[in-house]
Amino acid sequence: MYESLKNKTVLVTGGNSGIGHATAISLGKAGANVVIADLSESKETEELVKKSGGKTIFISCDVSNDQQVMNLINKSIATFGKLDYAFNNAGIEGLSAPTHESTQNNWDKVINTNLKGVWLCMQYEIEHMLKNGKGAIVNNSSVAGLVGFANIAPYVASKHGVIGLTKTAALEYAQEGIRVNAVCPGVIKTAMIDRFTGNDEKVLKEFENMEPIGRLGLPQEIADAVLWLLSDQSSFVTGHALAVDGGFVAK
Ligand code: NDP
Repeated sequence: MYESLKNKTVLVTGGNSGIGHATAISLGKAGANVVIADLSESKETEELVKKSGGKTIFISCDVSNDQQVMNLINKSIATFGKLDYAFNNAGIEGLSAPTHESTQNNWDKVINTNLKGVWLCMQYEIEHMLKNGKGAIVNNSSVAGLVGFANIAPYVASKHGVIGLTKTAALEYAQEGIRVNAVCPGVIKTAMIDRFTGNDEKVLKEFENMEPIGRLGLPQEIADAVLWLLSDQSSFVTGHALAVDGGFVAK
């Protein structure tokens, strides 16, 4: 379906779980070379991408660490010769607390991973894409990048920030052949939501009821949007924050 992704090298941060995992496998099926970057050293995604027919490499990386991100991009290019596209997806939810009770430690952890991490990745990705004269980046924001949510201020601030970074970079590089967009998932059934809800049936039901469509989203439904945004099928789309949210922000 996405011929333009074939034989392209695509980086997926946080590629070993949830949305990143589904996206890495879909990219493999589309014939891309997939660089999986993660804190988690699980081999499962790598094996599934290989089974799907894609070439792949796993690179251990903490996206909030400048040296590790530099190493990630250098190693990706050394392995596959270039980096065409990136899905900056790695993120954490942090701890829940009202603003006056939340800690600096939690603020630093969430902002460093979700916001600084996306910024650092974009810096090294764009530096390389400028030399290539072409590229596309999708950053993973959230519906929490579009509206407020009580008790998770650092997460909400980080995800609003990701949209700001996305729009700014889109303007800066629009004439250099590099498109930069964001996806804003609604509530998606992943390990993050399992942690957030404590896998409690009643809480999960409440989350389902928040979604006008009446169910949680699937990681694959976000992967499908990411592939479209990376591919030439969305060639006139840049600086956009695409809600894939079962109608959440339409309320
Ligand atoms: P998961 O927890 O399933 O996956 C996140 C992955 O990112 C994990 O493998 C995790 O590793 C990795 N990771 C965490 N911190 C870092 C880091 N510093 N450097 C590199 N890798 C890291 O979460 P989801 O798939 O649900 O979330 C993916 C993205 O989607 C996040 O940015 C999240 O905010 C966003 N999102 C998710 C929604 C949802 O409902 N699930 C809704 C809206 C947005 P480890 O497990 O070892 O920590």
